[in-house]
Order: sequence, then C-alpha cells, then structure tokens
Amino acid sequence: TSAPAAPTTQASGSQAATDGASGSEGFAADATIGVALPWLGTQNWKEAETMFDAQLREAGFTPLIQTADQKVPQQQQQIEAMIEQGAKVIVVGPVDGTQLGSVLSKASDAGVAVIGYDRLIENTEAVDAVVQFGSIRTGELQGESLLEGLEATGPGPYNIELFGGGPADPNAPNFFEGAMSVLQPKIDDGTLVVVSGQTDFTQVATPDWDNAKAQARMDSLLSGFYADKEIHGVLSPNDGIARAILTSVKQAGQTTIPVVDGLDAENESIVSIAKGEQYSTVAKPTDALVAKTVELIQALQSGSGLPAADAQEPNGAKDVDIYQLDPVVVTKDNAAEVFADDADRLKLFEDNLA
Ligand code: BGC
Repeated sequence: TSAPAAPTTQASGSQAATDGASGSEGFAADATIGVALPWLGTQNWKEAETMFDAQLREAGFTPLIQTADQKVPQQQQQIEAMIEQGAKVIVVGPVDGTQLGSVLSKASDAGVAVIGYDRLIENTEAVDAVVQFGSIRTGELQGESLLEGLEATGPGPYNIELFGGGPADPNAPNFFEGAMSVLQPKIDDGTLVVVSGQTDFTQVATPDWDNAKAQARMDSLLSGFYADKEIHGVLSPNDGIARAILTSVKQAGQTTIPVVDGLDAENESIVSIAKGEQYSTVAKPTDALVAKTVELIQALQSGSGLPAADAQEPNGAKDVDIYQLDPVVVTKDNAAEVFADDADRLKLFEDNLA
C-alpha cells in the first residue's frame, strides 16, 4: 500500500484535495461510507458487497451499502439517502454512467467525496476519483485472447460473432473498443469473418448485461447464419454471457465448441475453463479493487488528500483521476499460476480439471 502523497507532490489534476468536496481537513475515523452498487447479477458485484462491508469495518468505518437492481431512479434515491445519513464518502458503481449528475452535485455541495468504482461516472464534475481495471485494456486482452485461441485451432479464416455488454454501462463500449482495436485489422485482412455482418456496438450490445438476451441473440445468429457453416469463435464481454453463448451453441447441436473469451473469473467459468469448454476469462480481482478504494477513503479521512493518480480520463465534464489496476488473461494453461494466491479459485480449477 502506498502512503498518501504530500500535498505538494499531488498530481495537478487531483482536485479532490483542493475543491472542498473531500475536505483536506479529513473526517471522523468511524465515519459512514456509502457504497452504491448497480446490481448483484454477476459474481464481481456480489463479492464487492461482501468485501466492502468487511474491509470498511476492518478500517474502522461504518459501511452503508445499497444495490440498485439495474434501476437508475433507485440508485439516485439510494445516493440521496446516503447524503442525508451523513456519509463522508460515497463509492458508486453506476447503473448508467450518465444519469447521476444532479444527485452527485448535491453530494459535492454537502462536502461528500465521490469515488467511481469499477465504472466511470460521466458528464459531471462531482466525481473525485475512479478506481478500476483499465476498461480499454480489458477489451484488448479479450480480443487478443480470442485471436490466440482461434490461431491455436489451426489456420484461418475463422467465422466469428461479436457480443458487447450493457449499453448504459460505460465499461461496455470501452471493452468493445479495446477488443475491436485487435480484431478489426484481422477482419479487414480476411483472417476473421463476422458472418452476420454485425460489427457495430449498437448491433451487438446486450441490454442490461442480461445473459438470457445474449443467449436469444446467439440462438438467432446460429439459426440465421450458421445452418451450413461452423462458428469458430465468439467475442464475449463477460463470463455470464460467455456461458450463455456456449449453452446456445450446444443446444443448436454444433459439434465443435467455439473459442469464447470472458471476464471476471467467475466460479462457473473457472469450472468451464478447467473442463476445456470456455477458452479464457480476464481476472480483475474484486478484493484488490475494494482494497484500493478503501486506501483512497483512508487518505481522505486522514486529511492528507488523494495520492497521485495513475491516469486521467475525460468524462464529458472534466478529466477524472483514475486509479488503475491491471487485468490478467486466464486460460487453462496459466490458471493455476494466476490463482496461486486465491485458494478458492485454485481449488475449483484443480478439482474440475479434465
Ligand atoms: C464489470 C464487469 C461485469 C459487468 C456486468 C461491468 O461494469 O466491469 O465485471 O461483468 O459490469 O455486471
């Protein structure tokens, strides 16, 4: 853990220390900290709920954690209530990155610091920091891994389809953009063939990250375009959607399993990778992301201000300070190594190795 930087060495963009929102005076060591999560539909958000509770308590704070079931008004009300209940910091994984401007300016007016968690918060100045795994980088890893998996099956060209995540989530277009920076040149040179022709994010996005909707889209792609063709690979934005795609392929009676990437290193996908079905996932460990967030909260609490950021990203209203961790690709080949320090995932992988 890095010590909070002295004010003179702060990144110039580190406005939190100077704009009053986070108060350079600090706040009580047992202060209420709000955590507004978008939903509990994927394993990473369930882990975040449990780990924020444990790590904030461990640090002496009083956690106030709410989840919004993918509903924007519900999340706005939850944040409003956190302000009323005297939270000193509110951590937000937004349902929709663009819909929190007015409630977060209330937070800022009340002297509450705002930290975006895992997802960018857009079109507002009322965000002091964002803690995340690089979302473009994550997408690049997904694209690279899909390509590597395909190349390992023999020479191309390869028939593929593309899936994106929930369009309201600011990560989803970034994951897709990162992946396409790797895949587009291979589409252009004919190595990859998107048989449906659906290559725009708007065509391939999965509303609300809903696995059932992805599965239904995959069903219709297979019946519409693959009656007499094999599908060799599918770009998937996360593990739930990867498994939905694999289910659809199996139900369609396709003989070879296509190469499918993923995200989150979910338990069910670790089992699938161990069994040789899902090709890969990208690990972005929740415990590390929560620990990084709690470290920033402690810097605000002590009054030392935020440490220098790793990067800045424009959010439509300002350049936001980004505190960034590195995502890692996991395949059957390196899973034991990547999970060396994660006893639960390691055991799951080893117990299911086929
Ligand atoms: C997260 C992913 C998650 C997805 C759906 C994204 O913002 O980065 O880890 O799979 O939301 O919950």
